[in-house]
Amino acid sequence: MMREEQNIELPLRGALNPSSQSGAGAGTTPGSFADRPDLGGPRSFCSPDTPNMPQPSDRTAWDFNPAPRPSGQAVTQLEQARLGVITKEMRRVAEREGHLTPEQVRDEVAAGRLSIPANRVHLGYRLDPTGIGRATKTKINANMGASPISSSTEEEVDKLKWAERWGADTVMDLSTGGDLDRCREAIVNNATVPIGTVPIYSMIIGRKIEELTPEVILEQLEHQARQGVDYFTIHAGLLREHLPLVKNRLIGIVSRGGSLLAKWMLQHGRQNPMYEYWDEICDILRTYDVTVSIGDGLRPGGLADATDAAQLAELRTLGELTERAWSKGVQVIIEGPGHVPFDQIEYNMKLQRQLCHGAPFYVLGPLVTDMFPGYDHITSSIGATAAAYHGAAMLCYVTPKEHLGLPKREDVKQGCIAYKIAAHAADVALGIPGARDRDDELTRARAALNWERHIELAFDPDLARAYHDEDLAVDTDFCAMCGHDWCAVRISKEIAEFDSGKAEGFDPGGPKRSPELTPEQREILAARGHLDPTRERDQKPGCHSDTADPEEARKLQSEIHSA
Ligand code: SF4
Repeated sequence: MMREEQNIELPLRGALNPSSQSGAGAGTTPGSFADRPDLGGPRSFCSPDTPNMPQPSDRTAWDFNPAPRPSGQAVTQLEQARLGVITKEMRRVAEREGHLTPEQVRDEVAAGRLSIPANRVHLGYRLDPTGIGRATKTKINANMGASPISSSTEEEVDKLKWAERWGADTVMDLSTGGDLDRCREAIVNNATVPIGTVPIYSMIIGRKIEELTPEVILEQLEHQARQGVDYFTIHAGLLREHLPLVKNRLIGIVSRGGSLLAKWMLQHGRQNPMYEYWDEICDILRTYDVTVSIGDGLRPGGLADATDAAQLAELRTLGELTERAWSKGVQVIIEGPGHVPFDQIEYNMKLQRQLCHGAPFYVLGPLVTDMFPGYDHITSSIGATAAAYHGAAMLCYVTPKEHLGLPKREDVKQGCIAYKIAAHAADVALGIPGARDRDDELTRARAALNWERHIELAFDPDLARAYHDEDLAVDTDFCAMCGHDWCAVRISKEIAEFDSGKAEGFDPGGPKRSPELTPEQREILAARGHLDPTRERDQKPGCHSDTADPEEARKLQSEIHSA
């Protein structure tokens, strides 16, 4: 018996097709289910709220203007935006985003929802300003830095270049060993991306944490700001009264900065000095326009500790510190978890949006499961995609070495790629204009069986070429995955000869011997144990066919349409 036909309609919500292309290929997807873009509002690009989610704050950085207004020059991007000035950094951010005007960038900066970490000193070197906020595309950060056990300044500079090559939008130097000062200076001097640090690491070199004084804190912050660091992670939101809340956790405090400050508070019986000296700290940050990335010292270190009382108590304090920093003219980013079960991610993002008034959220993963050490770039990029979809503005990468050791060059690449995927997937889902263009272009090349273009558009073309040629060193109308007779794309091209599978200007011709593999591509195959990718190089596949017989194609099509 025939099943009754149901009329199924897609519940389109707003962003619709994010492709900016017109003509064939545009409008072929059902579109984004995200909220309508609300540039200038609290939901710029964001997911629809599931029931009972915390609503956005009705306040912005405008509600935390200094009173009375400071005399003298506007120094920070935030202060200039408040005066209506469009700086050249804001112009550059608009140029890099494509979908934003300089005026929109300025207005988002003034509202505190977009930060441009650009230390005035670093701007004198090679910094190319980038914007972090929900109105912009999602950014990713790569961590690096020498440890007391491993690595050197040269190796870290090399990793910086490597991370930039693989798409890191910012880099954090988290060195805890070697010559920290030299390493930081070398990284800042070489970086085109904003550089972040966690200054407390340098504050305890040569001294015990209990010997830390407010003077040392302020001196080190001034020193690193003078070196040109663009943003500082400062764990000022972890308060003495939060510590008892950690008692029942499975894994306690997993933030280095958080654990050090907790120890200081217990030993001195005093409040967190970063919190107590927040106004003085902000004065230093303002002088150089260092953005503060307010650290989450109580982030959960395992699924069992996620969204607990300690984490949420600290988040409330992060909101208070945001207000105080904005009133000092300082740009703000908020750091977030960590390890969070998938179903709690939206709540975490939307609670931050409310408590921190839309300040950009910079999350560390989050990992959505704890039992896959060695694969945590994957476990966390799943969480990162959800986080970006629900509101995070920047994703801190996790490498396969997370929890196990210091990432090496290849781990940096794997971490960056996992996070580029997470950020891009969220941007497409959120309907950021133009976000899907390259995907569509690649799909066109794939449908036309245009291997050269397909590989050129791949995020990692060397890997794509090496994998393709591992089994078949000719570019023809199928690949080794299914072979000629089962190649759905080829068959589809034949049966729909007149309306799909063709790319403008692409003449499939006959099978082409693919270019010799480059040394990098050969290395990829060697690492896989396939040292001889030339195996099929000289063989022309006997079953090649690029075009269908027109008569045959017409016959097939009419059969399909009348079926
Ligand atoms: S052979 Fe299979 S995997 Fe390869 S192009 Fe055809 S359908 Fe795609």
